Amino acid sequence: MVHPLILLATPARPTDDSANADQLRRISEELPAHRWVSTAPDALAVIRAEAGLSAVLLDWGLVDAERVLAGIRRRATGLPVFLVLDGAGLDEVPLWAAEVVVGYVWLHEDTPTFLAGRMARAAREYQEGLLPPFFRELTKWDDSHEYSWHTPAHAGGVAFLRSPVGRAFFDYYGEQLFRSDLSCSVELGSAWEHSGPIGDSERNAARIFGAERTYYVLHGTSNANRLVGHHCAVQDEPVILDRNCHKSVHHAMILAGARPVYVTGARNGYGLMGPVPPGSLAQPPLTQPPLTQLPLTASQLAPDGASPVYAALTSSTYDGLLYDAVRVTELLGAHVPRLHFDEAWSAYTKFHPLYERRCAMDVPLTPGSPSLFATQSTHKLLAALSQSSMVHVRSSERAPVDHDRFNQTFMMHGTTSPLYPMLASLDVAAGMMDGAAGRFLIEETLTEAVRFRQAVPQLARRIRESGDRPGWFFGVWQPPEVAEASLDELVNSPARWCLDPGDSWHGYPELEPGYCLLDPAKVTITCPGVQADGTVEPWGIPGKVLNAYLYRRRVVADKYDPYSVLVFFSMGITKGKWGTLLDALTDFKALYDANAPLSAVLPELVSAHPSRYARLTLPALCAEMHAPTAELTSLLRAASAALPTPVLPPVKAYEAMVRGRTERVPLAQLPGRTAAVMVATTPPGSPLLVPGEQLGSADSPLLAYLTALESFDHRFPGFASETHGVEHDPAGGYGIQCVIP
Ligand SMILES: *Cc1c(COP(=O)(O)O)cnc(C)c1O
Repeated sequence: MVHPLILLATPARPTDDSANADQLRRISEELPAHRWVSTAPDALAVIRAEAGLSAVLLDWGLVDAERVLAGIRRRATGLPVFLVLDGAGLDEVPLWAAEVVVGYVWLHEDTPTFLAGRMARAAREYQEGLLPPFFRELTKWDDSHEYSWHTPAHAGGVAFLRSPVGRAFFDYYGEQLFRSDLSCSVELGSAWEHSGPIGDSERNAARIFGAERTYYVLHGTSNANRLVGHHCAVQDEPVILDRNCHKSVHHAMILAGARPVYVTGARNGYGLMGPVPPGSLAQPPLTQPPLTQLPLTASQLAPDGASPVYAALTSSTYDGLLYDAVRVTELLGAHVPRLHFDEAWSAYTKFHPLYERRCAMDVPLTPGSPSLFATQSTHKLLAALSQSSMVHVRSSERAPVDHDRFNQTFMMHGTTSPLYPMLASLDVAAGMMDGAAGRFLIEETLTEAVRFRQAVPQLARRIRESGDRPGWFFGVWQPPEVAEASLDELVNSPARWCLDPGDSWHGYPELEPGYCLLDPAKVTITCPGVQADGTVEPWGIPGKVLNAYLYRRRVVADKYDPYSVLVFFSMGITKGKWGTLLDALTDFKALYDANAPLSAVLPELVSAHPSRYARLTLPALCAEMHAPTAELTSLLRAASAALPTPVLPPVKAYEAMVRGRTERVPLAQLPGRTAAVMVATTPPGSPLLVPGEQLGSADSPLLAYLTALESFDHRFPGFASETHGVEHDPAGGYGIQCVIP
């Protein structure tokens, strides 16, 4: 345990020659660790910044003492506050403030030792009470220095000390990691039986996230999605999938042998995937078209009239589009008894009113509702170790989720050797979000994101108005009013971020008011070149070029698209971090406007491919790449809109692949063939082609897109696309594994 930090906020200064200052100096000498401030703004700064703060001694005589109390209430529920009332009466303290306060102090009525002891004890109790159930027990356990005879065989790290290589590893991480890597311990409970502190922790997380049951998953949301899908559908049952579901959702359908039908959204002019429109959810295709390519046995066919058993949808999308979960449940609930929201990117939506109705666990259930599943990569945007994820479940009368049966699937997909530090990180991630602290942390993130979202268009306006340089700059994909609206309103009003059907900035058709919200925390920086409606401008800066430059500047974006790059704001993104990004954008502009040689902008690229790039300038490269990039974007939009025809259930194509009944087919010979593997553009990894689908004719949008992508790779070495499922021959030509007919 760290020493509890205690804040003294008093108008007296540490150096004052007064009786109060003298008494406070004596108190502070008896405290383990303290900060002494003499103004309300300083007190508020400490309250915001010092997460280790464990008690406060606040003088009611401090100017704005009430504001300090309000700040404490927002930041840290339960933080013990002692109010110094010398000279003031209790009746001067408002009632709400009295509720925040745990004790009153008259400085000269008690001894400094007594007062300091009282505060230190309250601080310790507060610290102990803070810890969530599993982490609290883990810290006690691993302090107890037992001898273990079980796995892991490194035995608290001791095995590493027997070898110089191991020693280096041990020293790198330190003893604590190894001491807490226990893998099995009766006292800490069972991850399979959900018992003991592990079970307590899952129940605590369920309370915090609004679930009926929460399951900790240690292999990412990839695993969580597979286990939910595998539990919800069996062989030949129809299921409804958002086409852009993460590949793990599609994999689940291969495991289950289910028969997916797809609903899909449009890509806008930037190539960003939009929400599935409400009309498609209201009337999805309910069974697959007949699968004709191979003779199918009766058991491979969905029973006549069988209706879909499960649907899955991604919310938020990679680009931060969040559905109205209540509306989606109403629409899809008319067709399926089990509904799965893949919330890999949005584990925090429960904790701020800006996201009301935007997460599955917020949906009010009626007896006719589908059962709801939410899978979340806690590690992606909350604070947990990589791969640490959660499944949240709420069961409805219509399709009850029986825990014991669900747990069978859970165990089928999980390891028998859980890493306790990962479990602890899930426990802590949930604990961090509990109560007022969760909202505070998310609000802080939103505030920084909104500041950045305003800084970019404001800088763009200054550039336009300066008149001494070319007037272009980068933009942010958002409602144009964001640039000028008040910060407070932007952070608190969902209406500001909804994709209004009448607005042109987003580029998506067929929406309803309030149906889809752009998460302010996910920021898409747009480049000149195209507009949201697909208009292509005379010149442009491809996202690949900007991304390569940012990477060189050590600003690593989460992904790039044809004319944009995406960055996330999460806890701990500071002004320094986004200021550096803004600076890099400004520098890119300066280099572009100065016609800088490519060797100065992307030296590694030029030295890897000198004959291709050495003579080019930055604008020349952008100019050469603009037309093919715009062309690719429009082909990708067309390919996403016209889904290929399924001719085999995905599992049958997969089985053909496992048995080697597949061959690599080059692009030119693909027309009419059936894919055995998934082909997905990355990022974000949504499939262009699912196993069992036919590639169509030579002029199909998909083949046209793949052919254009192949020639782009040839033409721009160093900027090759990453398309999973595509194999490259030695000359760089594309091929896809197809079923041998
Ligand atoms: C990242 C992601 C996953 C997989 O999550 P991991 O925790 O990385 O395994 C699933 N779904 C979506 C939408 C994702 O973006």
